[in-house]
Amino acid sequence: MRTFGCQMNKHDSERIAGLLEAEGMLPAESPELADVVVFNTCCVREKADERLYGQVASLKTLKTGGRPDVLIAVGGCIGQRDGTHLRKRLPHVDVVFGTHNIGSLPALLDAARQGRPSVQILDEGETFASDLPSRREHPWHAWVSITVGCDNYCSYCIVPYVRGHERSRVLEAVVAEAEALVADGVVEITLLGQNVNSYGRDLYGKPRFAEVLRAVAATGVQRVRFATSHPKDLCGETIRAMAETPQVCKSLHLPVQSGSSRTLAAMNRIYTREHYLGLVSELRSAMPDLALSTDVIVGFPGETDEDFADTLDLFQQIGFDQAFTFIYSPREGTPAASMPQRVPKAVIQERFDSLVEVVQSSAAACNERLVGTTQQILIVGRSKRDEDMLTGRTGSNKVVHVPARDVETQRLRSGSFIDVEIDEAQTWFLLGHPLNK
Ligand code: SF4
Repeated sequence: MRTFGCQMNKHDSERIAGLLEAEGMLPAESPELADVVVFNTCCVREKADERLYGQVASLKTLKTGGRPDVLIAVGGCIGQRDGTHLRKRLPHVDVVFGTHNIGSLPALLDAARQGRPSVQILDEGETFASDLPSRREHPWHAWVSITVGCDNYCSYCIVPYVRGHERSRVLEAVVAEAEALVADGVVEITLLGQNVNSYGRDLYGKPRFAEVLRAVAATGVQRVRFATSHPKDLCGETIRAMAETPQVCKSLHLPVQSGSSRTLAAMNRIYTREHYLGLVSELRSAMPDLALSTDVIVGFPGETDEDFADTLDLFQQIGFDQAFTFIYSPREGTPAASMPQRVPKAVIQERFDSLVEVVQSSAAACNERLVGTTQQILIVGRSKRDEDMLTGRTGSNKVVHVPARDVETQRLRSGSFIDVEIDEAQTWFLLGHPLNK
């Protein structure tokens, strides 16, 4: 399995892996050793798109190099968008499937094994992926989708075209899945949707996300996270539910995309700079320890020096804990792709660099404030850079490394909680030592 893109895709990949294991398959160490290679793809950004086509093309040598029986399947957003075109371009691909029919993959692979390669793309979802079997990456963490699709049509975004209309899952089904996961040892649940804040509007006539938060927290799970929020739909009721429910992590990813109301209008984001700033002050007065992260696009068509100055100013005012900064990349089929007034590359780069500088300094300042505090972390495993360190995450989603030798053996397991004191702050992580050794 190769997974590209967002958390929704990671969640779908766990379902695909679960489905294939239910068919008797096992994970392979590398494509060279695999009988089936599945790509779960993303088309939100040009780079991921190009990388996918490059990687799939390079697998042709597997088949021509003596393993003609290897099956290659491409699903996810690029599968949904390109369908038969993908197989025309890469005829060695055996199966193309989309975002609405991952449950059909075993049957499509069976047909391909019998010499019938195919492309199957549906316009509507047949099921919530959460209803399918799953092979979770971590036994202690689970993704639970509460909505699929999106109705917002931000002018730069391809998602509504490949994921379809927003559909919510009934509240009882969400809670039942959370209860089953807790019984299975899950301690952290991440609720997923393109815009979780509008959860329930299609089913119940009004959003009920605050209720979801409270109900999932009541299942006995220790941490509840969610992604992604849309500033136009984040309401006071949800902020209250976050503040009043200890299990809901005090971290929020709230994509701003631009600090200029003019650019936000061109992006069809349906909120203004003032609205966003107002939300942040409401959030911070309800939860003073809240860690805030965001997404921002630099160089959207028509972005002027004044627009960008507004973005820079908003970032300086807010002081985000983290921000994912993207250079605008046109996606064919979206309204923004045909907008005139492209910003010159050199100007974009200059703006991007100055924004990254502001982000790095606010991230470092946010981390610095935590030095000397006690934090509960959930151990996620050994540090990737240093075998002698364990890595964990705080409720506010900060990465903390602690020396493994200082932690009792039975607590080395990932999925355990320990209290640590923070000794040192770097821009993107913290160093600490465990308390009550
Ligand atoms: S809210 Fe906007 S950016 Fe997010 S998935 Fe929907 S259209 Fe795309």
